[in-house]
Amino acid sequence: MKISMVSEHASPLAALGGIDAGGQNVHVASLSAALARRGHHVTVYTRRDAEDLAARVRVAPCLEVVHVEAGPPRHVPKDELLPFIGELADGIARDWEKRPPEVVHGHFWMSGLASLDASRQLAHGGHRIPVVQTFHALGTVKRRHQGNADTSPPERRWLEPSVGRSADRVIATCSDEVFELKAMGVAPERISIAPCGVDLRLFSGTGARSPRNRGHRILSVGRLVPRKGVEIVIRSLPALRDEGFDDVELLIVGGAGDAAATETDAEARRLLAVAAELGVREQVTFLGQVPRNAMPGIFLSADAVVCTPWYEPFGIVPLEAMASGIPVVAAAVGGLRDTVVNQVTGLLVPPQDPAATAAALARLLADPGLGRQLGRAGQQRARARYSWDRVAAETEHAYRETLRTSARHSGRAARGQFQRVEGAAL
Ligand code: UDP
Repeated sequence: MKISMVSEHASPLAALGGIDAGGQNVHVASLSAALARRGHHVTVYTRRDAEDLAARVRVAPCLEVVHVEAGPPRHVPKDELLPFIGELADGIARDWEKRPPEVVHGHFWMSGLASLDASRQLAHGGHRIPVVQTFHALGTVKRRHQGNADTSPPERRWLEPSVGRSADRVIATCSDEVFELKAMGVAPERISIAPCGVDLRLFSGTGARSPRNRGHRILSVGRLVPRKGVEIVIRSLPALRDEGFDDVELLIVGGAGDAAATETDAEARRLLAVAAELGVREQVTFLGQVPRNAMPGIFLSADAVVCTPWYEPFGIVPLEAMASGIPVVAAAVGGLRDTVVNQVTGLLVPPQDPAATAAALARLLADPGLGRQLGRAGQQRARARYSWDRVAAETEHAYRETLRTSARHSGRAARGQFQRVEGAAL
């Protein structure tokens, strides 16, 4: 199958951990690579966000990344990209004139807009290239949790649901998202579920561990934005100390640059001020952005990985912990309720609850046997359910379903056109 992926802000080639570079980049890169391994031809379209990028980059024999000129060739925050989406669509449509795909898969709402626009530009005879959409995050959920702090453009309120209703199929990454999509007006028969996956070769549970600075290590990994809830973990440290666990390091991976750059990162500074106020500053270490190949050793060095976001569309980090055999403490929100099986592969805690987070971490630190047991079960679950090869097979199934239904629809549209012509002739 010839497949186009559109990922406007999240390039599969970008460094991870910055404000706008995380799970979506990993998802697009890994899903595309897994589809290419299955013999499909995959082209990923992303916005050129640096001058020195080649127009086309071949990543693997059947996988290439195309940098489309759309707006200034430098980083632009994703919430300021909407004015350039028309240009992105035009660039994609121009490329499709030479290499039309059979299906296009948009990632994030603005890529959905670009995909629909490009697909309409090339439509003929009642047929257009079918559009499959994965939202990765929904504006409705973001607004519910972030209120006025949400920096999305106001147009997202109506454009995102319209993408959901216009796409031929929407892929939800977790069961919670299905409810949100239905509430947005997406017809249930056009929704498929395919989760995110984990790179089982990279996160194999074996290899060298990075050295620890203290007796115990708790790990937090992700983009340094308030909604990821790192503050909740910091707020759990005093309670953990009261339980007798004072030799604990909280290692925080993610941020605008390397460890030195976190000193000027506004969110890192805010979190450090919270830690200082609580008297746990010495227990907190910021590592900054960590390259992919260094991540496995860091996961393996932890007693527990903690993910306490306010909300979470999917959350690849808990899967990476599970694949590494490390127990997870996770807030019972969004995708984390699908991936983490409470008391079996990790411990779920109520959202925004430092005391419950501390209690769960204390249980794991007090009973390493329990941690190993949860870690082993997590590893089995990650290997059985969340390989990218399996996710790619499910996604391919969704594409085939889309092609079948859109062929039926265009057949019906063509017949309708014929009947109209016939009716006019009569
Ligand atoms: N990540 C990384 N280096 C960093 C920070 C994050 O490799 O410095 C990766 C992390 O391992 C995971 C992804 O970025 O694969 C974050 O994905 P997740 O779905 O957990 O969060 P999102 O970014 O989608 O909110």
